[in-house]
Amino acid sequence: MLLGNMMDFPLTLTHFLDRARRYYSHVEIVTKMPSGDMHRYTFGDAYRRICRLSNALTRLGVRQGDRIATLAWNHYQHFELYFGVPCFGAVIHTLNLRVPIHQLAYCINHAEDRVIFVDASLVPMLEAILDQISSVEHFVVINAPRDFQTSLPNAVHYEDLLAAESDEFEFPALDERSAAGLCYTSGTTGNPKGALYSHRSQFIHTIVGGAGDSLSLASTDTVIAVVPMFHANAWNLPYLCALLGFKFVLPGPHLKPYDLAQLIQDEKVTVAAGVPTLWIGMHHEIQQHGFDVSKVRALIVGGAAFPKTWIEAYEKGLGIPVVHAWGMTEMSPMGTSTGTMAARTDLTSDERIELKTHQGYAVPGVEMRIVDDAGEELPWDGASIGEVQVRGPWIIQKYYNDPSGDGQFTEDGWFRTGDVASLDPKGLMTIADRTKDLIKSGGEWISSVALENVIMSHPKVREAAVIAVPNEKWSERPLALVVPKSEEDRPTPNELHDLVASHCSKIWVPDEFRYIGEIPKTSVGKFDKKVLRQRYAEGNL
Ligand code: AMP
Repeated sequence: MLLGNMMDFPLTLTHFLDRARRYYSHVEIVTKMPSGDMHRYTFGDAYRRICRLSNALTRLGVRQGDRIATLAWNHYQHFELYFGVPCFGAVIHTLNLRVPIHQLAYCINHAEDRVIFVDASLVPMLEAILDQISSVEHFVVINAPRDFQTSLPNAVHYEDLLAAESDEFEFPALDERSAAGLCYTSGTTGNPKGALYSHRSQFIHTIVGGAGDSLSLASTDTVIAVVPMFHANAWNLPYLCALLGFKFVLPGPHLKPYDLAQLIQDEKVTVAAGVPTLWIGMHHEIQQHGFDVSKVRALIVGGAAFPKTWIEAYEKGLGIPVVHAWGMTEMSPMGTSTGTMAARTDLTSDERIELKTHQGYAVPGVEMRIVDDAGEELPWDGASIGEVQVRGPWIIQKYYNDPSGDGQFTEDGWFRTGDVASLDPKGLMTIADRTKDLIKSGGEWISSVALENVIMSHPKVREAAVIAVPNEKWSERPLALVVPKSEEDRPTPNELHDLVASHCSKIWVPDEFRYIGEIPKTSVGKFDKKVLRQRYAEGNL
């Protein structure tokens, strides 16, 4: 073999940090603080504090490879930790602040976190599990008032920790394969499982993320990360900020649709990223209060399917183009994107919207295939539906310290996503369901996602979730749970029946449309069908 003659330059996050220090020290990072005040500083300021943080990690006795956890909202201190921890050589473990308390303890113990950086407002969560978490030696409290009291041992204030240190730090040369971040899946079944990212995977994922056909971001943008920083690296937006030098806006704990719309208006945001439920809520606020969101040039939506009716509402109603993307924690998270649609001037706006209802094309670096139950690869014909398997440089090859997860990896080195989809001849992916959410009725598969999209296209419907319920004759039948926009003016079950019947085959039409006040959501804001199934089984729906 003749080897190429190029440098073996390590692909580490330290390169982004250094690049941002040199080229983007003027770039602004804006946070809406828990108090409601705005905090503004530049990447140059952040860099000096990141150095202080790395010095502090040394003083706390942190070693390379140690897991250092965060339990925090989206704010500038969390941003500092996103760089200070991995560039020091340790691993940033972003804890999900919405999981049940026993899962939080599980994740801390499983990761053997040595230090936890925690928001003052979230400290009670840790106090409640203190007797269950033995690996943690230090708690660092962020945004605490001076007189803050806690029973956490060895607790120090983040600002005191940084104040004692020098704002210069010699970042170590790191192996690109060394671990940089750790994020646990939201664990809708069983215990959460850890995805351990490397510097190399984060580096490549970030480079591709900024590219035109992926998320298409630039230094001229102002980007708001509504997606939590504990959810799959906040879709890598903090690292993209350092790579590309865009103004970065962080909403702190202020995630109510009204507050978000106001922040987007006030900071002249051009790109906003988050899960569908957020944007569904925000649309109403924008219309009702007339917020000026005219600067927004892209709404990045992922984490769950974004129904056509909402894509239309944003594109046609508000003039905001949507980028619908699919991914998962195990994929860092980016898998597919419809980013390329923006450039398709050959299409009418209706054609573009139609394409964006699909999850898009695999971004460069991700390979995919769909397979049937027997493991046979299925054709890319837009009709065959099978499990999506993926491989690529930012996809896990195993779970962190979890030999039992092997069932999710094929013998020939692909990751089994647990999603079921079709691929058309050009590679356009359409997610039909999670494997466990698919409805098997009379031997035929019914896609709950497709049904939800049709039901949510009714103008009087706010949200809809479809679950499988046992049925003697058909084995399973779909049950639709519907949240109307207004209790007084809800659609009749007959109207919904006819709507679905006009889009889908007869066997797909749910036998029942049941009205509920709210669809329960998971810790990352997706419909929680596990809870709905459980409530149904308990006769509680
Ligand atoms: P998480 O790891 O919490 O981000 O969850 C990943 C899962 O969310 C995927 O496996 C999909 O089931 C679902 N998901 C993510 N993006 C989309 C999307 N655009 N459309 C449908 N499902 C999605």
